[in-house]
Amino acid sequence: MKLFGTFGIRGIANEDLTPELAFKVSSCFGDLYRGTINVGRDARTSSDMIFHSVVAGLISAGCQTIDLDLIPTPGVQFAIRNSIASGGVMITASHNPPEYNGIKFLDEYGIGIPREDEKKIEEMFFTGKIPKKNWNCLGRLEKDDNFIEEYKRGIISRIDSKLTQKKGIKVVIDCANNVGSLVTPYVMRELGCKTITINSQLDGHFPGRDPEPTVNSLKDLGKTIIETGASLGIAHDGDADRTIFLDENGDILTGDRNLGIISREELIKKRKGVVVTTVGTSSLIDFVAKEYNGAVIRTQIGDTNVSRKLKELNGLVGGEENGGVIFPDFVWGRDGALTAAKMVEILCRYDQSLSELNKEFPTYYSYKLKVQCPDSLKKDTIKRFENIVSEYDSLDKTDGLKIIFSDGTWVLVRASGTEPIIRIFSESRDEIKAKKLAFEKAAIIKEIVSELSKSND
Ligand code: MG
Repeated sequence: MKLFGTFGIRGIANEDLTPELAFKVSSCFGDLYRGTINVGRDARTSSDMIFHSVVAGLISAGCQTIDLDLIPTPGVQFAIRNSIASGGVMITASHNPPEYNGIKFLDEYGIGIPREDEKKIEEMFFTGKIPKKNWNCLGRLEKDDNFIEEYKRGIISRIDSKLTQKKGIKVVIDCANNVGSLVTPYVMRELGCKTITINSQLDGHFPGRDPEPTVNSLKDLGKTIIETGASLGIAHDGDADRTIFLDENGDILTGDRNLGIISREELIKKRKGVVVTTVGTSSLIDFVAKEYNGAVIRTQIGDTNVSRKLKELNGLVGGEENGGVIFPDFVWGRDGALTAAKMVEILCRYDQSLSELNKEFPTYYSYKLKVQCPDSLKKDTIKRFENIVSEYDSLDKTDGLKIIFSDGTWVLVRASGTEPIIRIFSESRDEIKAKKLAFEKAAIIKEIVSELSKSND
């Protein structure tokens, strides 16, 4: 039995993710990691409830528990890296709808805990062996709200703020009514940006938009950019580890443009380096690496996999297709606010609009489709699909199945780690090819799922 998805435990609050479950898994985590544990949370309606259960679990396991209060996920990762903590917990469901919540467990570097440790927690949980300390060995709870300030300072110190202050570009920030509101608007103001915010009051009902930054959810941001004549739109997901950018025309850049643009800048500065990303990220990064003396290493989907590889290889920069970039000298995880600050710096340095900058990179067309598939059928579905496609020469099995064609066109089929769906990503320089490929493979997956469901009835 599994509790963990791609990054932590997720579910509908008080239904799947109950206070009892949060208490038990946190006791197990506390028993494994011991010492001091930093705990942060987002502004969801259920975050206070889950927070108190997590803290009770950690104290029951004997951990000194530090309450970091409301803070983005990278803020917790920053706190772990810059303190004696032996681990951390972030309570958030990231981009999932308002009724969801989640628990991300972090190791002593601030990276999501390895799969082996997740398995240990699952084993303790499912066998009912929940560790409990005696009354005289319990942990304590302390509050420390300095870290969020230090986190902001850390971001600002990594940017040429003299340059950004001189240029003073106008930005509009949409924080999805969540914890990005506590960081990004302040950082932008300190960098000298004329800063306008929307959806930046904390509200766990997400009155402004869906926590996932998408074409649909960012319409108001696009309009505000046009109305105010801003140069850049910055949108975060619920826990602000991701940023999606909109240009001065209100047009959205896909998340993998972030990694392409920022990697180019880092490669220019350092002259060489390794960029780590996942099998689901655009080939744009290969193009950039080739042009600027970089190498690309691809991992399984998930911020944790990228961060771990980045650390192991002493890489230059990392990231995923969803708009999160990882800066190894700062936080071992995707960092939405630093990603935004770096983009502001790049626009100021080259005195360019984002649409001009974006045109310097080749266009890739991508399609993302999802097919409903119960968790119990995911494995068999992918297996059957593999049998159908096994005649292809270039099949990458790093995560799910990625078919790569000779012209660089590719399609990736993989089971989601957090939802009952199978995702199909395709990418090509040719728009029609990308679309056709995604729909074609989605139709095959749909058929397999329906066959398997019937034979299971
Ligand atoms: Mg997130």
